[in-house]
Amino acid sequence: MSLIVQKYGGSSVANPERIRNVAKRIIETQRAGNRVVAVVSAMAGVTNHLIDLAKEVSVPLTPSEREMDVLLSTGEQTTIALTAMALQSLGAEAASLTGAQAGIETDGLHTKARISNISPDSVHELLNAGKIVILAGFQGKTSYGDITTLGRGGSDLTAIAMAAALDADLCQIYTDVDGVYTCDPRVVSNARKIDVISYDELLEMASSGSKVMQSRSVEFAKKFGVIFEVRSSLNHHPGTLVKEETMSMESIVIRGVSLERAQAKVTISGVSDVPGTASVIFGAVGNANLIVDMIVQNVSKTGITDISFTVHKDEVSKAVDALRPVLAELGDDVNLEATEGIAKLSVVGIGMRSHSGVAAEMFKSLSDAGINIQMISTSEIKVAVIVAEEDIDRAANVVHETFGLSKI
Ligand code: ADP
Ligand code: ASP
Ligand code: MG
Repeated sequence: MSLIVQKYGGSSVANPERIRNVAKRIIETQRAGNRVVAVVSAMAGVTNHLIDLAKEVSVPLTPSEREMDVLLSTGEQTTIALTAMALQSLGAEAASLTGAQAGIETDGLHTKARISNISPDSVHELLNAGKIVILAGFQGKTSYGDITTLGRGGSDLTAIAMAAALDADLCQIYTDVDGVYTCDPRVVSNARKIDVISYDELLEMASSGSKVMQSRSVEFAKKFGVIFEVRSSLNHHPGTLVKEETMSMESIVIRGVSLERAQAKVTISGVSDVPGTASVIFGAVGNANLIVDMIVQNVSKTGITDISFTVHKDEVSKAVDALRPVLAELGDDVNLEATEGIAKLSVVGIGMRSHSGVAAEMFKSLSDAGINIQMISTSEIKVAVIVAEEDIDRAANVVHETFGLSKI
């Protein structure tokens, strides 16, 4: 008997009808002779709604992150109970478990906690009793019992980590599209579903804005060798298989295009071009637990330069607050400026390791479309640019077309 871990995202459990649809699919999987653990997310929109409520009651302060986790975990807790009830009403034996009940232990970094250990005894007990286990995604508990959450999109991580901990035979991530596409199909209408993708490519795509999978979950899958499939909960089409790369994968130069909206640029100008400057800046930003994306430093002509970096626009005021106290250490005439309204476009593919000219082709297509590039960064398998947010959809379509991604 195989053990299958499935994950159903927010849109797959968005209303009672969808929850009953999920329950039927879980029963089909069980009737095919499998044991099933189904991880579910909060119903679509619920997590955002809870975040809005928290902000409203906390004005003018920022809500405490510990209480935020107590609040946000209720979204998934609602869905597990409803899904278990739907299964029971269809005649199946099912029981729900919160993250804490399922033995998911994390560090204490509230709202973006990392899993430190999983002791899934209760999951095994329920499975051994012949039950379907419905597990709350996105949550765990610290060693001292506080509720934590795993960062936005964290139910993906719950599913991958539980599949690893249970040594599951199969891990399926069910969502509202047929799999991982060459670009977000809501932006590029002729984007194509990818049949097989390597961990590294999906990791680059996810961390550069393709929110079809949470990037930390892909990182976890790569680390523990969890092969998984991304597929639709609304049909039975084959999805996208995600696994370690194979030789044949390298023949495709560009696997996909990602876009990330709502970025902001912080520029510190007039800083002294001496050892230690970057360390002071990024030390301060790092201590505030902020994730910095692109970093650019200009060449200095007079011993003075400027450094820019990007963060999500929601984090920009935290970045500015973290930098103010250290500005005096950076030079006599330092200026700090933050601008919003930018977005990032990335092209990703492991074939880039052995093919040159990708960046030039991408830049030419953007230039032909009259789209200005504000910042550039590259990795071995990615070229990323910052453009005005208003240009991002057009930029994605142009670049997708240039690399012929709808035709491969
Ligand atoms: P879930 O609620 O199932 O977790 P998400 O909304 O987190 O689903 O992720 C699915 C969405 O990701 C799709 O509806 C799609 O708009 C978006 N998306 C972004 N980039 C891609 C991509 N490259 N391939 C497929 N979907 C993508
Ligand atoms: N409900 C959480 C979120 O909206 C986790 C998830 O859906 O994976 O981010
Ligand atoms: Mg998701």
